[in-house]
Amino acid sequence: MTQPIYLDYNATAPLRPAINNALGELALKPLNASAVHGLGREGRRLVEDARQRVAGLLDADPANVIFNSGATEANNTVLNHFSGRGIAVSSTEHASVYEYDCGQTYIPCDENGVVDLAALEGILKERKPELVSVMLVNNETGIIQPAAEISGLAKKYGAFFHCDAVQAAGRLPLKMIDIGADFVTISSHKIGGPQGVGALVLGMCGETPCLLQGGGQEKKARAGTENVAGITGFGMAAQAAKAQLSDFQKLGAARDKLENALKALVPGIKIYGEKADRVANTTLAGIPGARSETMMMALDLEGVCVSNGSACTSGKVEPSHVLKAMGASDEEAGSALRISTGWATKDEDITRFLEIFARVGQRMGFVDKNRAASLAS
Ligand code: PMP
Repeated sequence: MTQPIYLDYNATAPLRPAINNALGELALKPLNASAVHGLGREGRRLVEDARQRVAGLLDADPANVIFNSGATEANNTVLNHFSGRGIAVSSTEHASVYEYDCGQTYIPCDENGVVDLAALEGILKERKPELVSVMLVNNETGIIQPAAEISGLAKKYGAFFHCDAVQAAGRLPLKMIDIGADFVTISSHKIGGPQGVGALVLGMCGETPCLLQGGGQEKKARAGTENVAGITGFGMAAQAAKAQLSDFQKLGAARDKLENALKALVPGIKIYGEKADRVANTTLAGIPGARSETMMMALDLEGVCVSNGSACTSGKVEPSHVLKAMGASDEEAGSALRISTGWATKDEDITRFLEIFARVGQRMGFVDKNRAASLAS
């Protein structure tokens, strides 16, 4: 069977082979990092080693890294901590922030999805939230938010700043100090580590949000037996992602080739966030006259894994709140296709994707024969 063409890295990245091997060995050992015996101490060493590596990805102090089950938990932890104290979040946040039930105020964005700083300042002045939560890179569009400016505004009005950097880690060179956040969320499986593990990284504000209580793990900031194998894999992924930051930028050439070819194939196509700063791996395209679900299914039958970028609950694809916040109609939001690449993507994946897309598009009526033929020539 031919390998699927995997172009859905923003949903999850394939596990890096070296990590897969290491996890296989670790899974055979009963490693509880809090146990005092030899195997416990081995677990502790692995966790502390991973803490250094994960901190290295953000140039953070390892003592400020709190391991947990992933970014959803990290985001919930921060929002829960500030619940009742006033929270402002951008209108393009991931569902784990956007939908968290805490009475948040939504900060509008412009048509490229970039936070409206004047509106944020207005909210800070009038509603006086104690927390501002804005992601660094959007998972649907790949656009980069002006974190330093957001941090500056939050500080000016005495608010804390939380930044979900899940889609930025391993894609942009990151330093805690430059992000200027009091809390940063990262996740292992977006950078080629195992799923179900992530971290909340603290800045210098002195507050430690805690959701899970009833155990002394992670200096009492996150109760529950540490996922030693997962954390080890996360550490390895963080180190690899940092070392490959310049390789990641090369994906920008593949993205440009992809977007130019898509524009040539589909008249009226819209590339969301095209005019803003974006990370190198993400294309969110609005295909006039097409439906996301049908496109995804047709591409899936041809072995192509892509997404529409927005949440799919119980098999029903909802129009993306991100695109709606950027001014798209339901119809436009329902015709989006997200192609996201990563560490194992090769040029030929893009070439094969384009061939299949042109074929599927002809069948579905949004690519005409002549345009498809010019792609082939
Ligand atoms: N934030 C962002 C920006 C994401 O893209 C994701 C994953 N889709 C999450 C949070 C949730 O991550 P996790 O799967 O680790 O809970």
